[in-house]
Amino acid sequence: MKIQTFLIKYAEIGVKGKNRYKFEDILCKRLRARLKPLGQFEVRREYGRIFVDAHSDYDYDEAVRRMTQTFGITGICPVWTVEDPTPEKLDETVAKYFEEEYDDYDFSFKVRVKRINKEFPVASMEMDARLGGILLDRYEEEGLHVDVHTPDIMVYVEIRKIAFIYSKVLPGPGGLPVGTNGRAISLLSGGIDSPVATWMIAKRGVEMQAVYFHSPPYTSERALEKVQDLGRIVSHYAGPIKLHIVNFTELQLAIYDNCPHDELTIIMKRFMFKVAEELAKREEADCIVTGESIGQVSSQTLFSLGVIDRAVTCPVYRPCIGMDKQEIVDISEKIGTYETSIRPYEDCCTIFVAKHPVTKPTLDQIEKSEEKLVGIIEPIYEKAIDTAEVVWLR
Ligand code: ATP
Ligand code: MG
Repeated sequence: MKIQTFLIKYAEIGVKGKNRYKFEDILCKRLRARLKPLGQFEVRREYGRIFVDAHSDYDYDEAVRRMTQTFGITGICPVWTVEDPTPEKLDETVAKYFEEEYDDYDFSFKVRVKRINKEFPVASMEMDARLGGILLDRYEEEGLHVDVHTPDIMVYVEIRKIAFIYSKVLPGPGGLPVGTNGRAISLLSGGIDSPVATWMIAKRGVEMQAVYFHSPPYTSERALEKVQDLGRIVSHYAGPIKLHIVNFTELQLAIYDNCPHDELTIIMKRFMFKVAEELAKREEADCIVTGESIGQVSSQTLFSLGVIDRAVTCPVYRPCIGMDKQEIVDISEKIGTYETSIRPYEDCCTIFVAKHPVTKPTLDQIEKSEEKLVGIIEPIYEKAIDTAEVVWLR
């Protein structure tokens, strides 16, 4: 039987009290948007739960993939439905369900029937035993056995006007539905860390935009493509991402020509942050996000991070801050960005990087160096923001 109904499980949004409906509404909206290109789907809230019904032919694997990548969902249960259920119809369908949904039967199980429609003539407990007995008769020889305390598989049968049968939970990513926690601008580069950081903040329900600092001809079109590919992968979870592509070359050259070379990375980062903050203001975003992690490179010592932060007044979130590289790699593999991140590319920071960059900068020292830019940098900065290109990644 082709699955036409899914029961959607969600954890955290269930405990949000009054806000619960708002969260559920947004989750339904996200699901509708994700499934729309695949066919006709109805996403509905019923009995305090969310159901997805397919009303047309669709690609099962792709639909499941999309649902299991939607933040806010902890699990997806493919459901068999029985119209106008009778005890006999359920006997037959549960047996057929087991036959089609499982290939081997060497596991323990338990049937849990919930009779909500009291016109159904057999009580829940009686029905538990009846359906359990049918399955044992068929599959006991192949290893199937009952375990009422910790079964490997729980077979749920819910009897309403329609009956639902399900036993499988395909895990979702958890988190909160995107759109429930404001908007952020993420500094997205072609590396491993920033796509992970973007994903982590989106997971908490934040709508993400991204900014990429492009330095042609020092960085190639391929580097830009790579960033877009990464953003697209993250958008499978986070929803459409508005990417701002800022031409950073002139800013970088001005900094290179006027500031001490051992401070270049710090000063460049400060300008990236300033541009990102300006974009955040224009886009009504509440913060900026980066993939930095303490001590990973010289520009990410505590001192450097502190000085970079002082370039802006908006909050800066760095979800990878306390993670080891391997931990970040593990997440990037899990979410599918790793293979793209390791594609070779030129990083705009590494091209202008000094042999011995400062690791203990002070704000005074950096601000003093930046004074050399006064009168030169302002029009370049304005131009960089005004000429930013926008691409929607989805
Ligand atoms: P990543 O793996 O995310 O590229 P990284 O380890 O290479 O990070 P840096 O190059 O120092 O570290 O960059 C630190 C952070 O600054 C990145 O995670 C990203 O958020 C931001 N960043 C760096 N370069 C760019 C760029 N060209 N465009 C946008 N953001 C950038
Ligand atoms: Mg990088």
